[in-house]
Amino acid sequence: MNMSAVKRALEFEMEKDQVAEDILVQAGLARRCDSCGLAIDIDIVGDLTPAYKLANWMVTNADDSVSIFESNRKALTDAIQSTYKQIGEICACGPDGTPFFADD
Ligand SMILES: [Zn+2]
Repeated sequence: MNMSAVKRALEFEMEKDQVAEDILVQAGLARRCDSCGLAIDIDIVGDLTPAYKLANWMVTNADDSVSIFESNRKALTDAIQSTYKQIGEICACGPDGTPFFADD
């Protein structure tokens, strides 16, 4: 693999993580800080079922936003799981790492 192929593969993975992150936000397990846009873990239980259900629904309905996964439900589920593990509960916006949510 040459360097540009490596770069493309990396961008492809980042795009997949982005899709997984959007699904976590839409499913209500994460929320974007209104100031920095970072995804924040707002789920206490850690049950990813709502995200998996939404992901499956999107694959079934051939939603454009999950097309990068080419109907591979397992790959999408794995991406949701690994992305969720990377999401933290804080960002750098508030004095003590408290995220900024505009309507709170
Ligand atoms: Zn922030």
